[in-house]
Amino acid sequence: MPGSIAVVGSLNIDFITRTPRVPAGGETLEASSSDTGFGGKGANQAVACARLSRNSDGSTPADSKPIKVSMVGFVGEDSFGSDFISAMKETFIDTAHIQKVPGQKTGIANIIVEEKTGENRILFCPNANFSGGDQVKDLVPEDADVVVFQLEMPLAQVVHNIKLAHSKGKYVIMNPAPAQKLPDDLYQYIDCLIMNESEADILREAKEELKNEDLPQICEDFFKRGVPDLVVITLGAKGVYHSAKSRSSGHTPGRKAKVVDTTAAGDTFVGGLAVEIAKNGGKTPQSPESMIQFANSAAARTVEKPGAMAAIPWVNEL
Ligand code: ATP
Repeated sequence: MPGSIAVVGSLNIDFITRTPRVPAGGETLEASSSDTGFGGKGANQAVACARLSRNSDGSTPADSKPIKVSMVGFVGEDSFGSDFISAMKETFIDTAHIQKVPGQKTGIANIIVEEKTGENRILFCPNANFSGGDQVKDLVPEDADVVVFQLEMPLAQVVHNIKLAHSKGKYVIMNPAPAQKLPDDLYQYIDCLIMNESEADILREAKEELKNEDLPQICEDFFKRGVPDLVVITLGAKGVYHSAKSRSSGHTPGRKAKVVDTTAAGDTFVGGLAVEIAKNGGKTPQSPESMIQFANSAAARTVEKPGAMAAIPWVNEL
């Protein structure tokens, strides 16, 4: 039986404009260049799962099992929605659970990049991603072994589906981005919590920024809140710290990389780890170091290419 991953999350069209400086109020300025791309944390992570379990021709790597990847989410009844579904199919992603919402537009993100500083200014309009409002729907596919969530959907929708996935015996991965405080009783349903340093600070309502020497205690605190299996904190160029409950823990240094653009590094890491867990039948081994190493290496490849989704590597590119 092949492993199966479902990513429940956002699909956005990214409009990226690069400019020497940001225009002032009322000013019109000529930008240097622009790009349109498929994005959203959900879609990026689904693409990472699909590419990190396949070669670029769609074949399964010789030493591996086939992995089915499904995207679960909402697009509008517009041409962006149709294009998005086609693009996901081209990446060998099952799109049966992407719903076109009548009368809605596909979510968009306007991204202005100031070339001088490299700083991003992002205006995100969720549109179809938030179409249900607080009305929750059951979104967990029956055949998934591993279900991956982020927070670019209404919190009530995410909470309901994390609990549903847990009740169906799925392995639940949660990447709490963009970060917000989670309900205290939710942690017990999240098998693996993956976050970056600032997300960890928001979740634990820290008064001071996280320090490296505090990482073991911070992971312990998430176990005390209820996380039953794995806590992973990504540290950018410094790599990753992970702790597997009552088993192994440690720091995996970042792989040396020629950094071009770090966008989607975090999404690649989440996808890489989800693939490793799905290959292992929806559970983690006694010592998950080699899984962490795989995700860490894949994420380091992503920072070497420009763009978000476009930068995520296939297995044969690792
Ligand atoms: P992003 O928002 O840019 O997608 P993030 O803030 O969610 O990323 P990071 O902790 O910055 O997450 O990076 C995720 C992982 O990507 C790291 O744990 C590491 O494996 C890899 N990575 C990020 N930056 C670098 C780098 N400069 N060199 C090598 N690896 C990197």
